[in-house]
Amino acid sequence: MNARLLTQGGFIEKQAAGIYNFLPLGLRVLGKVNNIIRDEMNKVEGQEIFMPVLHSREIWKATGRDQSMDGVLYRTRGTDDQEFVLGPSHEEVVTPLVKTFIKSYKDLPLAVYQIQTKFRNEPRAKSGVLRGREFGMKDMYSFHLTEEDLDAYYDRCKIAYTNVYERCGLKSYMIEASGGAFSDKFSHEFSILTPAGEDTILICDKCGAAQNIEIAQGKYAEPEDFGEDGKANAKEKPLPMKEVEAKRGPSIEAGCELHGCPAWKILKTVVYEVEDDGLVGICIRGDLQINELKVEKYFKKQIRPASPEMLKKAGLVQGFIGPVNMPAKVKISFIGDHSIKNVTNIITGANAKDVDIINVNIGTDYTVEDFADFVQVRGSFKCGKCGGALREEKAIEAGNIFKLGTKFTDAVSFTVTNKDQKQVPVFMGCYGIGNTRLVGTIVEACHDENGIIWPKSVAPYHVHLITLGNDEEATKKADKLYEELTEAGIEVLYDDRTDSAGVKFKDSDLIGLPLRIVISKRTLERDSVEWKERAPSTDGKPSEAKNVAFKDVVKEVVKFVKD
Ligand SMILES: [Zn+2]
Repeated sequence: MNARLLTQGGFIEKQAAGIYNFLPLGLRVLGKVNNIIRDEMNKVEGQEIFMPVLHSREIWKATGRDQSMDGVLYRTRGTDDQEFVLGPSHEEVVTPLVKTFIKSYKDLPLAVYQIQTKFRNEPRAKSGVLRGREFGMKDMYSFHLTEEDLDAYYDRCKIAYTNVYERCGLKSYMIEASGGAFSDKFSHEFSILTPAGEDTILICDKCGAAQNIEIAQGKYAEPEDFGEDGKANAKEKPLPMKEVEAKRGPSIEAGCELHGCPAWKILKTVVYEVEDDGLVGICIRGDLQINELKVEKYFKKQIRPASPEMLKKAGLVQGFIGPVNMPAKVKISFIGDHSIKNVTNIITGANAKDVDIINVNIGTDYTVEDFADFVQVRGSFKCGKCGGALREEKAIEAGNIFKLGTKFTDAVSFTVTNKDQKQVPVFMGCYGIGNTRLVGTIVEACHDENGIIWPKSVAPYHVHLITLGNDEEATKKADKLYEELTEAGIEVLYDDRTDSAGVKFKDSDLIGLPLRIVISKRTLERDSVEWKERAPSTDGKPSEAKNVAFKDVVKEVVKFVKD
């Protein structure tokens, strides 16, 4: 969507997949976005620098990322066969750079940033300026004597980031991120809601917490919350377990039908092959799904669901696997999700074809090696922090911040002398916002079927001044108004083409400036202009056009732009 609207409105033009030209209108928007980012980074004492795009491959080898980021790096060679990397990020450059100047604790903390072009060989470069192979980015790096100082600065940057999005007309949600290639707990993403988003996030409106659904935690209903069925369960006494004949299909639904019970009364066991560890059965309540990312995190190893052939080879009976009565010859271990703890008299497969076991109770009838959280959280769950309702929304990631610790400073032996003249490590944070991506995000979040609706703060111009017809008097008046508005500090895009009203209005909607002012013979008969705002009115309906007296226009426009 952003690519189509930005192209039709004359903001960008594609050169190749993921590579765009910014045209005059687009560059004005990008410049405004950059200035907002710059201003917020300056407020947290960031100092602007400008680093090279071309990096010696040696420095990428030194941190190991020449290999770990192999799939996304663009590499190139000079005529003398010297190898270079086109920078996808700048830790490798900034850390030795700062090391050159910073020797003592007295020089810290320090934060430097740049607004620079990055290169990543992006296999999915098809979302307009949201995901480019060549794209703009503000990247800031901070350096600290202690971890506590990094923590405090990191918290200030969270606020600075929220300010950037707000000033760009966007509401952002800060979510704890899974970390990716950098770190696994000290990072946050900033997400903007839009139906075009690639991410699904869960928002709690009660406490404001937002989570990525991939790693989200939340509260599911416990047995006592399940009405009559649940009450029966909560009061139920544990009964002696019993094998029963179970001619059924392998699904949980088939078990429910056969035993006439809700899904939560069935123990679901899913078998995974864990790298180097063999087979592991994850036991979870039958109505819940397993989040495989959580399983992977638990084992800190690659996992994959065991294939039917693998199950057969191991002596397991598909559809009837469970932690009770496992034949000794089968090599498998069991880990339980917390959800299975509170179900009395649960039902499981008996590790034999067409046999189930009812009235199974953990502790009495079986044990698992460990408990952990493996649940795939959904919008129907409650917030894990406050119990409020969760809602699922599509979102775009519009920035992220990381606590890097000493990973990159260690790699180049960057230390400083502390008060006791001892060499101590330097702690580092990094803070990124894709500025070209942010332009695309604004478009995704702010448009209607006719085109873009730029927030005032980033609109390429404030006012679209349009003349209709060839009336000499109207043209004269419009020329004069253009001059007066410009003198008053208003940015005006003046459409004095001789095209029809239809063409001019259509273009005006596509370009999406906050205010459209039309002057024609007809408006001049009332000594006024036609005033129409691009953004919908507060009730969501399109704003109505109105007449504003000619003598008041400049004053009213200044007021509108400042508001
Ligand atoms: Zn909450």
